[in-house]
Amino acid sequence: PLPEPVGDSAPPVDEHPSNIAATLENLRQSADSRITHPRRFRAQQLRGLEKMLDEHLQEFLEALEEDLGKGPTEAKFSEVDVVRAEIDYAQRHLAEWMDSDSVKVPLALQPAMAKVEPRPLGVVLIIGPWNYPLQLMLAPLVAAIAAGNAAVLKPSEIAPATSGSLAKFLPLYLDRRVYAVIEGGVDTATTLLAERWDHIFFTGGEKVAKVVAMAAAKHLTPVTLELGGKSPAVVDNHLPATAKRLAYAKFMNVGQTCVAPDYVLCIGDSKPLIDRLAQAITSFYGKDPLTHQDLGRIISRRHFDRLLAMLEQGEVVHGGEYDEQSLRIAPTIMRNVDLEGTLMQEEIFGPILPVIEVANFEEALEFIAARPTPLAAYLMSESPRLQSIFSDRVRAGSIVHNAPLAQMIVPSLPFGGVGASGMGSYHGKHGFDRLSQNRAELSKTTVVDTLSAIYPPYSWAKRKI
Ligand code: NAD
Repeated sequence: PLPEPVGDSAPPVDEHPSNIAATLENLRQSADSRITHPRRFRAQQLRGLEKMLDEHLQEFLEALEEDLGKGPTEAKFSEVDVVRAEIDYAQRHLAEWMDSDSVKVPLALQPAMAKVEPRPLGVVLIIGPWNYPLQLMLAPLVAAIAAGNAAVLKPSEIAPATSGSLAKFLPLYLDRRVYAVIEGGVDTATTLLAERWDHIFFTGGEKVAKVVAMAAAKHLTPVTLELGGKSPAVVDNHLPATAKRLAYAKFMNVGQTCVAPDYVLCIGDSKPLIDRLAQAITSFYGKDPLTHQDLGRIISRRHFDRLLAMLEQGEVVHGGEYDEQSLRIAPTIMRNVDLEGTLMQEEIFGPILPVIEVANFEEALEFIAARPTPLAAYLMSESPRLQSIFSDRVRAGSIVHNAPLAQMIVPSLPFGGVGASGMGSYHGKHGFDRLSQNRAELSKTTVVDTLSAIYPPYSWAKRKI
């Protein structure tokens, strides 16, 4: 195999378990002293995070370019701006989120006061993947900070430049007593997972998610699992915007996006759609996409080989070119694909879009229902009737009509999966709630004993029954 043509950054060295243990002990002690709880502290840390992104924007963009070949424009809006929007939203709503809610007490308990108060969970472990290595570390961190928690970040070793930048800059802007970045690969993740946490927030694949869930079970630690899957796009019309939006969502980050449309189910003849998709690809990435500055590269040789094998599992009708040296694959459309091959059995996670013809809408719904629950399901249709049936019948983390990926940047929408695509969701208040405990508090006076009627002996009750 050819060497991995990655940037200058070497993979991070796994931290020695004893160093990890010492870091965690200090962090736990500081967290136990509740320094993360006051609103002022949380607001300060959010400002720190904002400042870090402002002052080191260039370094982060360069790291993303080095890790994934992401151009600065795409990296800025799909990584940095998403985190900035999360910070901004949390800053504006923090006071309101932290407020407790008074609730009514039954007549028999009155007088008494009852309330629900969101409380920090403690120390959160955040483990992230390589495909959006900045966003998927920092967006969960925003939720952890807003909810008043301490946090340890374990970025992906497969995006070493971004991992290194986080380890370098984060401690300069956040309180080091309660926030740490621990770099490393599987060994480091394994050491971390053996520890006791108050929540584990994992973004990645299904296989590792099971390892995380088993480790969490040993301490009964709650988990959020942000996974992937094969997100379908059902196409009912052939409008020019349909093809452009699909191509945009699919080929951003070279298809290495958890909510990218994985495959298309086209109702009826797919020829007009395929033509428009091909036009959209050429208008985005030119006639020679392999050299286009806005098309990134595949993260590793392993993934590159995995994708090349998929190109064999059907008819390539557009694209299909690749470059082994730079690990680039051109945006590709396929049809007549083998439904039993890896292309249609595994998450593609690359720039290959299979288009499958179905006779009618019902067949599309059945196709989706027969497969594991995806993270997102897209319908490209102007028909309110089809939209309503789609929303009702399809099970997915999110349902989007006509704007794939747009759900990601609406902070008030929960972002997360269901079934095979994960558990728990975040973004905006959903992240705050996910990393808080909704604590019940009841308070009553003993000066007048209004409960005396219910104490044993229960002779009073027997009389009534
Ligand atoms: P991965 O599951 O291989 O790795 C994720 C993290 O787990 C990394 O930090 C890695 O170091 C760690 N890890 C790997 N092996 C481990 C082990 N045996 N024990 C403990 N930790 C281990 O995922 P990936 O390849 O980095 O990312 C791609 C996957 O992530 C895709 O399935 C994609 O759909 C999913 N994803 C989901 C979302 C989402 O928000 N739902 C976002 C991006 C990616």
